[in-house]
Amino acid sequence: MRNVMIFGTGINNEKMIDLRSDVVTKPGSEMLNCLVNAKVGNDGWKEDPSVNKFEKKIAILFGKESALITPSGTMANEIAIRLLCPRGSELIVERESHIYNYEVSGPAALSGVQMLPLKGKQGILKWEDILPNIRPKFHQFPQTRCISLEMPHNNGGGKICPINILKRISKEARKREINMHLDGARLFNACVETGITPKEYGKHFDLINICLSKSLGCPGGSVLIGDKELIQKALIIRRQFGGSMRQIAGYMAACGIYALDNNVKRLKEDHKNAKSLANIIKKCKKLKLLYEPETNIVVFRYKKLPPEKVCQILREKGILIAPYNYPDLRAVFHLDACNIEKINKIFTKLFY
Ligand SMILES: *Cc1c(COP(=O)(O)O)cnc(C)c1O
Repeated sequence: MRNVMIFGTGINNEKMIDLRSDVVTKPGSEMLNCLVNAKVGNDGWKEDPSVNKFEKKIAILFGKESALITPSGTMANEIAIRLLCPRGSELIVERESHIYNYEVSGPAALSGVQMLPLKGKQGILKWEDILPNIRPKFHQFPQTRCISLEMPHNNGGGKICPINILKRISKEARKREINMHLDGARLFNACVETGITPKEYGKHFDLINICLSKSLGCPGGSVLIGDKELIQKALIIRRQFGGSMRQIAGYMAACGIYALDNNVKRLKEDHKNAKSLANIIKKCKKLKLLYEPETNIVVFRYKKLPPEKVCQILREKGILIAPYNYPDLRAVFHLDACNIEKINKIFTKLFY
């Protein structure tokens, strides 16, 4: 059985340390202040000053001309696929990626695109994995028109793809007129870890999306970043997908501006905490660490008990984690889960 997730437990206990995901953060008082005081307008007409400011700010950060706020990362991904991969063509994705597993066949359903899933190592594909899967030009074959990479890779335990691998894929793809998309839901985690700028990552992709509601700590939203011509088309597709948001977009954007200024650098702390818990897990005889964490995600397994049981034991001690990629377990660090001493103590006590 794959990817059994136990979310939606109905638990919303402020006292719990919630490591199920980084989508659980709640806006703090400073972010809420920005939200309340935001100047807004109808973003459907591009008249929202906060949205316009945010989109410009993030586009510049990535060395691109333009950006577009969306209600979710899934919508940003699906708009990108619609724009970069024509109907009847093929999209190369990684087998464990978000697009392939958690978007309900969006590329097929919304854009008439066939996905070709390739298995990477911890979610990372190399050009050598991709090359033999590029379709030859022949009228009976679907044509490979886009490669979508995910980075850091969620199911790969937050793995970062080395920049030289990205560069190579992008260079070879462009030679063949294949478009490049990056599902960078947590890309800022990669940036603070590697020291590589968003602009440098941006060079290798036509469209990139970033989640505001994950490690950046906003209450919602995502953003699609690219050059003007593509983003102008993205505006039309967002409308068609029902993602035009009027004034609410401005409040999301105000949180986004705050997050870019205040919540990026601190991601290092989440990575430090993830490494710290990983070191404890390595010392716990009953547990097995699956990957050395590179960002904010720790994936591990309990050698004997079923994962649901492990979640229950931890829940009784005040920690929420979730089974992820059954029978593995996942702990995700974020700005509302920084009490690492307490977490480590509980893990040591329960599993040593
Ligand atoms: C969270 C996530 C998304 C977008 O998810 P939404 O729930 O639609 O915002 C896309 N890609 C990856 C890798 C993610 O982790």
